[in-house]
Amino acid sequence: MTGQNKYDDDDITHLRHCIQLATTAVEAGDEPFGSVLVDAAGRVVFEDRNRISGGDATRHPEFAIARWAAENLTPDERAAATVYTSGEHCPMCSAAHALVGLGRIVFASSGAQYAAWMAELGVAPGPVAGLSITQVAPGIPVAGPVPGLDDEVRRLHERAAQGSASR
Ligand code: ZN
Repeated sequence: MTGQNKYDDDDITHLRHCIQLATTAVEAGDEPFGSVLVDAAGRVVFEDRNRISGGDATRHPEFAIARWAAENLTPDERAAATVYTSGEHCPMCSAAHALVGLGRIVFASSGAQYAAWMAELGVAPGPVAGLSITQVAPGIPVAGPVPGLDDEVRRLHERAAQGSASR
């Protein structure tokens, strides 16, 4: 990952936006994940957050982004766009991202970090294997995790786990 893990100040700005969306998700009783889609000119064209509390476990923001992009962007626009996300795409979202032809992904925290945090918090693993973006979609350029921002995401997961334990 070192050497490939390149990000700049604009990337950090977009990742902070994702963490704000993830915070909104936790406050709504959803899981702390938020993502934004940024076009080649650096504009945010779509954003979403996790919305699984209604019972549909596929309501991940990265999946929503892939479907929005397929409906609203040309193939060239998709390839030139970047998806920013508070937590690395799960296998479902990695596949959707690749299938609709989106470009680079930048994540604040990695899937491996998420798996370790959940284990420490005593949360049972989900039904899907914890494959990285690169394992699912090897052609997608990725960057992350980002030191400092990953700690912010970890705190949101701790908050979410405490919230669900007290419900
Ligand atoms: Zn996902």
